[in-house]
Amino acid sequence: MMATFFRPSRSRTKILIEAGAFASDRHAVVAQLTWHGLDPATHLIELAPEAGADLVHIDAIRDCLRERGSEIALVLWPGIQFRTGQAFDLAAIAQAARAAGCRVGFDLAHAIGNLELALHDSEADFAVWCSYKYLNAGPGAIGGCFVHERHADDASLPRLAGWWGHELSTRFAMRPGFRPAHGAAGWAVSNPPIFAATPLLASLELFDEAGIERLRAKSVQLTGFLEFLIERLAPQVQIVTPRAPAERGCQLSLRIPGGAARGRRVFEWLGAHGAICDWREPDILRVAPAPLYNSFEDVFRFGELFARALEANP
Ligand SMILES: *Cc1c(COP(=O)(O)O)cnc(C)c1O
Repeated sequence: MMATFFRPSRSRTKILIEAGAFASDRHAVVAQLTWHGLDPATHLIELAPEAGADLVHIDAIRDCLRERGSEIALVLWPGIQFRTGQAFDLAAIAQAARAAGCRVGFDLAHAIGNLELALHDSEADFAVWCSYKYLNAGPGAIGGCFVHERHADDASLPRLAGWWGHELSTRFAMRPGFRPAHGAAGWAVSNPPIFAATPLLASLELFDEAGIERLRAKSVQLTGFLEFLIERLAPQVQIVTPRAPAERGCQLSLRIPGGAARGRRVFEWLGAHGAICDWREPDILRVAPAPLYNSFEDVFRFGELFARALEANP
């Protein structure tokens, strides 16, 4: 997607991402800048929360785009920040980016299958995601992308083309000219991995059957219940993730008092007692009840276990 949508010009050469971005994203944008002969030290803008804060306010993104937007070629922003669990108003970000003349794309690794998304209405140029988190497709599964309709038939866009992105009706004619398929399919490069795509297909069928609206409605309650239990049973723990349901998905990111070493011990104790959470350096425990298969009873049992984990690891 960046081969197409990161097209630096003389005056617009920079990429804006969030500070502390997932390693894969950061490596990818640094590689893109380098590929274009641009020094990442000066061309990568990493927007950090205010000193002492964990979350990035939408106004800070807007201010950055107002002040520096004319230098920025591409804004690449997460749907949900993987470490803090903060969900962003994607339409507001896309609007601010486009008003500043930037291309804008989203990394939805933690948002797909978690939030209700309206990518077309957001007017973002593109979005990408892996499907092995909430979509359950398993490690190594095929990723996905969205390309806005206004680019759907624009054959003039440069891209890393491959034969599988060629329009289907003439694909097997194997003629030299590349005619992209309509929409995101025109960016496919090669055959999809069938064995890795099959579990994804099965999972997507379950999502369709359950309905993302209903999953999200349950998710808001499930994560709200988790928050309630943590406040009651472990009031000393800091909930880093925003408190407003609209600003988060399933996940709560927790900061355990007593430092990273204790946090890690708590995480390991939980794992040994049957609660699968996740540890993110330097000091964040992530807990994410997934509405497709976690119950309110699971969350209740976790709350009790978490209180015991804190007691057992002073
Ligand atoms: C998990 C994740 C990825 C996944 O990267 P892969 O290269 O598909 O493994 C990318 N970005 C973010 C923010 C993630 O959380």
